[in-house]
Amino acid sequence: MFVRGELEKIERKVERGERLTRDDGEKLFACHELSWLGALADFVRKKICCDVVYYNVNCHVNLTNICVSRCKFCAFGRDVETRGSYAMTIDDAVKLVEEAAVDPNLTGLHIVSGLHPTWTFENYLAFVETLHQKFPALYIKGFTGVEIQHFADISGLSVEEILRRLKSAGLQSIAGGGAEILTDRVRNLLCPKKATADQWLNVARTAHKLGIKTNASMLYGHIETLSERVEHLIRLRELQDETGGFQTFICFPFLPKNTALERDIRQTTMWDDLRTMAISRLMLDNFRNIKAYWVMLTVPVAQVALSFGANDIDGTIHRENILHDAGATSPRSLAEDEIIRIIRDAGRIPVATGGNA
Ligand code: SF4
Repeated sequence: MFVRGELEKIERKVERGERLTRDDGEKLFACHELSWLGALADFVRKKICCDVVYYNVNCHVNLTNICVSRCKFCAFGRDVETRGSYAMTIDDAVKLVEEAAVDPNLTGLHIVSGLHPTWTFENYLAFVETLHQKFPALYIKGFTGVEIQHFADISGLSVEEILRRLKSAGLQSIAGGGAEILTDRVRNLLCPKKATADQWLNVARTAHKLGIKTNASMLYGHIETLSERVEHLIRLRELQDETGGFQTFICFPFLPKNTALERDIRQTTMWDDLRTMAISRLMLDNFRNIKAYWVMLTVPVAQVALSFGANDIDGTIHRENILHDAGATSPRSLAEDEIIRIIRDAGRIPVATGGNA
């Protein structure tokens, strides 16, 4: 339960630019005054980023959906012999990007994939090398902290060496996925085979040390408690204090369809999505960019989220796969002029990022 006087104290802190505590975060999650939360987050958003909203013209490349981890919340990962499993060749990946590059405004690639049981690190590296050589003008954001840790595990190389090799092959930043909820309890229950919370944070810390920016995310709306959402945000905020290397934070509502949790967990409501967006903006006082990822939120909710703390709406994508396997009802891609219209209608100024958001 919250008490109005306590919320007013939080409001004063936000107005003075003071950091919110764990206790404040928990009070915000207990509060049901959505419009108040939105106005407070919007106040902070405006102070940090003015009215600019970032988007990019990008292409998602998912090299394979075959994955040894088989996380309970994932509808994308499959075993080798399961129907619908695939593994791209380098030619397949080049063809996909050539198709997307018909759009002269294409500026970035977003490469994330399953943890293939027999691919070596060199297999993954070869995709980056080839795509960078063939499309040198495209910004390459690729691999999550989970994938980077997997490459270290299968190759025997350190995380630092993996990152150095990827960087010299053409990788420019690391994707934000795989963070899920950064507590051992949640990860042991949902995804015990992949990077732990500490390992995920260590990949980000190491990347930042090497001058590689990374994104961060939070997958919420499954088995986590509201306190664990706050814990997650605080762990990211602490690392950002230490390195300053996070570029963008993305809120991912869990989509249960076709996952192992489908029968037990219902999809988040718009109300939860908007309050989580707003609280993320308020707690992550050292993150400049908060993204409303339209694929998961749906386009209308992502547009409204621009008034709940978000200043980024992601990109055109070309052909989204991962979340459509989990029943995402949004389109698989958006035209650039539609993204611009969505942003302008919300009273904001669209700015293309050049692929690096
Ligand atoms: S979330 Fe990633 S690591 Fe987990 S099963 Fe899906 S593809 Fe594999």
